[in-house]
Amino acid sequence: MCAGRVDLSFVLRAFLRGVDGVFIGGCRLGECNYVTHGNYHALNMVLLCRRLLEHIGLNPERLRIEFMSGADGILFAEVVADFNKRMAALGPLGRTEGLDRKELAARLEQITRLVPYLKLANREKLAARLGRAEEWEALFTLDEIDRLLSDVVAFHIDPEKCQACLTCLRRCPVDAIDGGKNRIHVIDQDKCIKCGTCYEVCPSRFSAVTKIAGGPLPPPLPEDARTIVRKRKPAAGETPAAE
Ligand code: SF4
Ligand code: SF4
Repeated sequence: MCAGRVDLSFVLRAFLRGVDGVFIGGCRLGECNYVTHGNYHALNMVLLCRRLLEHIGLNPERLRIEFMSGADGILFAEVVADFNKRMAALGPLGRTEGLDRKELAARLEQITRLVPYLKLANREKLAARLGRAEEWEALFTLDEIDRLLSDVVAFHIDPEKCQACLTCLRRCPVDAIDGGKNRIHVIDQDKCIKCGTCYEVCPSRFSAVTKIAGGPLPPPLPEDARTIVRKRKPAAGETPAAE
């Protein structure tokens, strides 16, 4: 398949399954047969992922991308042999970096959960077409990734404002919102992938979803306090009940 189809989550999944290194081979930059130029996407994804690996304490050399044509059989064999040699010298994933299996899995899982957020936050850079190899390392810096991950936004539904219109619940891509008819909606933060859809779709007349960066989140509303009791509209000719 096109190297551009290799998603960041595929690479992280491979590491989660315990591989010591991931190698991606793409067509030569600027020589894509289609208008898509997916190899640039693959390159940018790799540059981002290498910084993410660094952020969680893994050696970024464990992920490599090289570009070559279908006629470069010898080059391919040489590059793969060199990569294998390098991985053998580096040793087992995690253990070499001083991380036990549980800690390694927890770090990789945390980053994997944030993939949609990371893609959204870096969408412009991920679409870049960097021609010169000297520009690659600067596309993402470790400082910037550290900052991005320490300021991860979270979304919260204000129980005072939620009108249980169900819009966010229907649109959440990962079923992270608990709610229903006449039920104040609540986000399950463990499932939320920070895509921001609920924030975008909550009708402006309610504006019940807030974005919180870096700070603590209010605790979730207890189950038994989530029912919305609506006032009955007075029937024609009926005097409204006193407040
Ligand atoms: S940000 Fe909102 S829509 Fe997106 S996953 Fe989280 S709860 Fe669901
Ligand atoms: S879209 Fe807004 S008002 Fe509607 S259920 Fe979600 S949070 Fe509540």
